[in-house]
Amino acid sequence: MPPERVTRFAPSPTGPLHLGHAYSALIAAQRAGAGRFLLRIEDIDRARSRPAWEAQIFDDLHWLGLRWPIPVMRQSDRLPAYRAALDRLGAMGVLYPCRCSRADIRAALAAPQEGAAQHGPDGLIYPGNCRGRPVGEAGPDDALRLDLRAALALTGPLAFRELGPVHAGMHRPEPDRILAEVGDVVLARRDMGTSYHLAVVVDDAAQGITEVTRGADLFDATMIHVLLQVLLEISSPTYWHHDLIRDESGRRLAKRDDARAIAHYRAEGATPEDIRAMVGL
Ligand code: GLU
Repeated sequence: MPPERVTRFAPSPTGPLHLGHAYSALIAAQRAGAGRFLLRIEDIDRARSRPAWEAQIFDDLHWLGLRWPIPVMRQSDRLPAYRAALDRLGAMGVLYPCRCSRADIRAALAAPQEGAAQHGPDGLIYPGNCRGRPVGEAGPDDALRLDLRAALALTGPLAFRELGPVHAGMHRPEPDRILAEVGDVVLARRDMGTSYHLAVVVDDAAQGITEVTRGADLFDATMIHVLLQVLLEISSPTYWHHDLIRDESGRRLAKRDDARAIAHYRAEGATPEDIRAMVGL
């Protein structure tokens, strides 16, 4: 028998659940089929996360007809697990402390010898100013970055399987492409003790997720996640990236799009079936 499929929906409680989130959650639940659909609250950004948003997320998902096992994993409870992963990566020699601000990075990239600045999954590709600083030197003002070149030398070729409609197939990103398009991403933000990339990899493994379903905007980040899985000796899930729900002018929905908040449609008398129809399910 093939192993049970386990999917998850992993919202950040930093704003209302909107149509795009509902779509993502419904797809995750649908893909779980007879397996398990889990919920995970991604609240590492303590400054922006609010208990009221979390309560609204639970309520809206319930209203949509979704059910999940409790207790729900909450990333703010998981800092020791992220610390352990960082210690392990540090011992492997693939982390360095970095105290560059965004302005420092922009200034370094504006230097005449640099070509046009490239954007990766986390914004500007880091030019490497702090690379080579020993990880033991990290202080409270430092973030921790992945030394991507050193990491790729340890992992060798990477591969992952995508099952979703947008990029279906086996993907084998070339090291040069990863270096050019991803760069030395932050794995622990100064004020958080982790970052999205590290937390998502550690938690998907801890929850036994077999298929990650999420928006196609995170497809490029998958290269980083697969790299971290190899370094941390975690088995890779398959991926299912879905298209994004856009507004009438073709723009992606953002958290601040209150007009498309599920709560707003509910207040106007919409039914869960109306929401499904609106997102094309
Ligand atoms: N917390 C992320 C978000 O709200 C989801 C990340 C993921 O599914 O990997 O965009």
